[in-house]
Amino acid sequence: MSERASEEVEVTSVTGLSSIVGHGRVLEMLRREMDAQRLAHAYLLSGPVGVGKALTARALAQALNCKEEPGEGCGHCSSCDRIRRGVHPDFLVLEPDGRWIKVEQVREIEARCETGPFEGTYLVVVIDPADRLNQAAANALLKTLEEPKAGVLFCLVTAAPHKMMATVRSRCQSLRFGVLDEIEMHRFLVERLGLETDRVGTIEAMADGSPGRAVALASDSGWARLVELRQKLFRLALGSFSTVDVFAFAAELGTLKDEFEPFLDLLDLELGRLLRTAVHRRTRPDVGRDEGGQIEIPGGRLQVLFSWYWASRQARRLFQANGNRRLLAETLVVDFARAWRDVA
Ligand SMILES: [Zn+2]
Repeated sequence: MSERASEEVEVTSVTGLSSIVGHGRVLEMLRREMDAQRLAHAYLLSGPVGVGKALTARALAQALNCKEEPGEGCGHCSSCDRIRRGVHPDFLVLEPDGRWIKVEQVREIEARCETGPFEGTYLVVVIDPADRLNQAAANALLKTLEEPKAGVLFCLVTAAPHKMMATVRSRCQSLRFGVLDEIEMHRFLVERLGLETDRVGTIEAMADGSPGRAVALASDSGWARLVELRQKLFRLALGSFSTVDVFAFAAELGTLKDEFEPFLDLLDLELGRLLRTAVHRRTRPDVGRDEGGQIEIPGGRLQVLFSWYWASRQARRLFQANGNRRLLAETLVVDFARAWRDVA
């Protein structure tokens, strides 16, 4: 789930510094520095994906240029509105052109910085993600950062600061973002996303304190796709599948990018639920089908469920060790099918 995924939903509702959920210390510091007119000329906003770094950079640009509520950003004046829509002349976002942010792009920004803000108080340049500056671009940016211009503020956004040139990093004041705590996350899901109570728990467990991830999971299409893939895996494993089916499924699973880990989470959650139900049934055979059960494991075979659970844990370990998603998906289907055949 990219930062951008979070912005798509939040675009309509979130604006100004007061709208940022969590990150109290970062916001407090920015407000203090604005009040004292001691803002740095470049900030490095680092932290996990989807926690609101890019949103904070945008809110800061609004706070700096808002005429109605300077220092906060009212959200509805012409300046706030155009920054939100990304069409304000004093709010620039530098993104990769292809895989990298290239030197020509940095030169363009550099030229623009010479003139300073056109109509606002500050020209804010957001570089997102800053770890995608290629070597030449990073060197060019370094020069710009070494000669700060009045009224120009850089916000470098990254989830991988270690991939950046150390000299660029050290030219910026660091703003570290963490994941949201349970209370903040709960508030975000209920108040901001308006989720029904029955989905809050699951999404809270899967989102790992990242509102951006929660937004992507809560979007009907994102969620439905992951559930559909999970059911497909179960169907493949329980049915008679061909090699072609396995490769097709693995290819499909391989296209999940930031959603791959949430897919594994969803698989874990469901297997945990099935295991609990199966154990419960064994101790109380009179208990009927479980209500939410979208898949019926014949005879509630515990052994299969344990094997599946183990295979899914194994997949996660390999994934975290940077394993190839497609290969992982193939192994997952084959392991699942084998476990079923061993007992069937
Ligand atoms: Zn405003």
